Amino acid sequence: MMNRRTFLEQSSRTGLAALALPILPTQDSMSDLTIQKIESFTDDYTTIVKVTASDGSVGFGQMAPYNNNITTQVLHQMVAHHFLGKDPYEASALADRAIEINYKYPWSFVSRAVAGVETALWDLRGQVEQKGVVELLGGHRDPIRVYGSSMRRDITPQEEAQRMARLQDEQGFTAFKIRVGKPVGHNEDQWPGRTEEIIPTVRKQLDNSTELLADANSCYTADKAIEVGKQLQEHNYYFFEEPCPFWELEWTAQVNDALSMRIAGGEQDNDPAQWQRMLRMNAVDISQPDICYLGGLSRAKRVAEMAQAEGKTCVPHSANHSMLLLFTMHLYNAIDNPAPFLEYSIEDILGQDWFLNMYEPTIKVEDGKIRIPDGPGWGVQVRQDWLEKADYQISET
Ligand SMILES: [Mg+2]
Repeated sequence: MMNRRTFLEQSSRTGLAALALPILPTQDSMSDLTIQKIESFTDDYTTIVKVTASDGSVGFGQMAPYNNNITTQVLHQMVAHHFLGKDPYEASALADRAIEINYKYPWSFVSRAVAGVETALWDLRGQVEQKGVVELLGGHRDPIRVYGSSMRRDITPQEEAQRMARLQDEQGFTAFKIRVGKPVGHNEDQWPGRTEEIIPTVRKQLDNSTELLADANSCYTADKAIEVGKQLQEHNYYFFEEPCPFWELEWTAQVNDALSMRIAGGEQDNDPAQWQRMLRMNAVDISQPDICYLGGLSRAKRVAEMAQAEGKTCVPHSANHSMLLLFTMHLYNAIDNPAPFLEYSIEDILGQDWFLNMYEPTIKVEDGKIRIPDGPGWGVQVRQDWLEKADYQISET
């Protein structure tokens, strides 16, 4: 292992010290290893990334789901060579560098691809040190309270309320999130009157001890969002997520200023500098960085720390049951400013089980809580049968 000074000297030789963004304290140590191979396994929904180091140790990570044939090409063409031959313990600095050096192609697919390698490096380090990632981050393993997150706007408010009541009975959920408006809907509703109806209907079905949240997915202008927010406040909803198009920071800040309830947001924001602006202008109270959109665990953790410095909480975004959920659980238990519950999609447990066969053990809700699986790294085994069915590519030194 090297001390920080040696690290900085080495970094300046490789140009890493020139980075404007801070290096995380957890990255201070270095190893004697180098990254030898980056392999990708892509199915219709997502890509698992396997990194192999010079001593043969291995780590598994994952890119953000969807359109992964494209992200995989970006990985092998634009990202992998910035990691190969480097120290696997430098996950944070290498992720930053791979994103910055692709500055003509900002964010999105580059950051998605980087997240695949970065999360694999955390697993690899956990395997080498025989520690969970949450331990590497200095966190704890307390059970995590979750909110059941609906992804649906195609069922009636009554059906939504009833399935939430059923899930509460069966699995003990103490919080749920509904969808209001229409994604990027320019103030349109999924159908006329749906939002005005679902807000009181779900509240009536679930008593006041159940926390309720609402997500507008970038639907509203500030005026309309304030109107909807007032109805949410009236029915004691805990937060209002992404009320306005997420890039309209000033609109969102205006909504936050006008309402007494909490505003949440940021899942699509993958630029740490933009995060800083958003937090400083008080656009959101609750920050929701997405590990796989942002380019990895280190970068999402940095956003949580920025939020903390502004007196705000964080609930990293985890809208599906892919490995993203695992990454998010480890991070959630290692930050000092978590919001009271983590997102857990209720769609997979109702039949859409795309991600449930990727790894074992799967994450189940008991008494409204989930637990980080035991074991080093992410604490799961990626399933061999899943890997064998996936499309394979490799980059190596
Ligand atoms: Mg959302």
